[in-house]
Amino acid sequence: MVNIEDYIPLVGQSVIDDLRLLGERLKGKVIQHINSTPMGGGVAEILNRMVPLLKDLGVDTKWDVIKGGESFFDVTKKFHNVLHGRSGEVTKNDFDIFLETSEENIKNLDTYGDIVFIHDPQPIALVKKRSNNKWLWRCHIDVSNPNEKVWDFLLDFIIKYDSAVFSAPSFSRKLPIRQFLIPPSIDPLSDKNKELPQEMIDSVLRKNNIKKDKPIITQISRFDRLKDPVGVVEAYKQVKRYINCQLILAGGTAEDDPEGFKVLSEVKESANNDPDIHILLLPHDDIAVNALQRASDVVVQKSLKEGFGLTVAEALWKAKPVVASNVGGIPLQIKHKYSGLLCHSVEGASFAIKQLLTSPEYAKKLGENGREHIRNNFLITRHLRDYMLLFLSLYHAEDIVYL
Ligand code: UDP
Repeated sequence: MVNIEDYIPLVGQSVIDDLRLLGERLKGKVIQHINSTPMGGGVAEILNRMVPLLKDLGVDTKWDVIKGGESFFDVTKKFHNVLHGRSGEVTKNDFDIFLETSEENIKNLDTYGDIVFIHDPQPIALVKKRSNNKWLWRCHIDVSNPNEKVWDFLLDFIIKYDSAVFSAPSFSRKLPIRQFLIPPSIDPLSDKNKELPQEMIDSVLRKNNIKKDKPIITQISRFDRLKDPVGVVEAYKQVKRYINCQLILAGGTAEDDPEGFKVLSEVKESANNDPDIHILLLPHDDIAVNALQRASDVVVQKSLKEGFGLTVAEALWKAKPVVASNVGGIPLQIKHKYSGLLCHSVEGASFAIKQLLTSPEYAKKLGENGREHIRNNFLITRHLRDYMLLFLSLYHAEDIVYL
């Protein structure tokens, strides 16, 4: 059971009092979140915690998931990649498949919310159903350099919404509707982030045949090319020439991500049976992710593109020194040389990892700064406040609202 009062020791009483006040103002409104997967990936991760907390604050909140077959999720994955700026051909057939499944969902999914809160492109077309309720489109993707064909296609839907929400200023686009900037967050009390006893961390390591006899470098991510797991293996190999260390690459695959198994086999090939590379498939095990992050000496997130990068916030909250690419929402979380190290290449990543492994005091300081930065900016309590202000603002369309 989630209880908002449990957050008082972490963020203070006044933050929780403010949330209660905002919750009261939203009494009588139904907020309906809709996305494309109940688990796997950052959006589901956030909704799993956000929905019960909003309910605890007295806000009537529901969460529905659209349905789609393999071909639909192949197309939406392609959309996701090219919106992130990756090359790829999107055909008329792809758009037809997208529209066909969208029509099915339009027919079968009841959009009963006073506020319908649509996450990402997959359910975007549901807005065709809008009546006199309010509609929000929440874009979790970095669309600063999107494939124009796909963006234009989505734009026809986006303009039907009341407002759009982006994670970082650089992601927003010129739009004829109001835009809000709201970065995501992590929940410090979830299984993924709560404190763990050392025995539990050790038992997760034992279960995965990992010994603590050499420093542990870890990247937790879906097996997705944009997370560059092969680049992480290369960086590790460069570090290994100087420092005897081990690498954990852990990730499951999300239900709406059909590419995972292919990428996993590429990673295995590049690992070439090195016994110090542990490739772990984690079928939705938050305690295991938590334990692996806590057991790490350095956490890496070498993404080529990133929405926000929740894994970075998760590691920083655990006061871990983090090496991560300077992409997407990562620089919001890491101020270079203050709350972690930013990198731009395999060489840059390996240089930074070496530096952290050989300077434990420096690494510790970065981790501590990182934890405070997350406490002040990226915990779910801040996110709840921003979302509730956003909901209220929909009923005050003429006012200018600063979040
Ligand atoms: N995650 C997980 N198990 C895995 C891989 C990832 O629980 O095997 C979690 C990870 O801890 C984080 C989320 O999934 O909470 C991924 O969010 P992020 O923003 O890092 O990336 P996304 O997958 O949304 O691109």
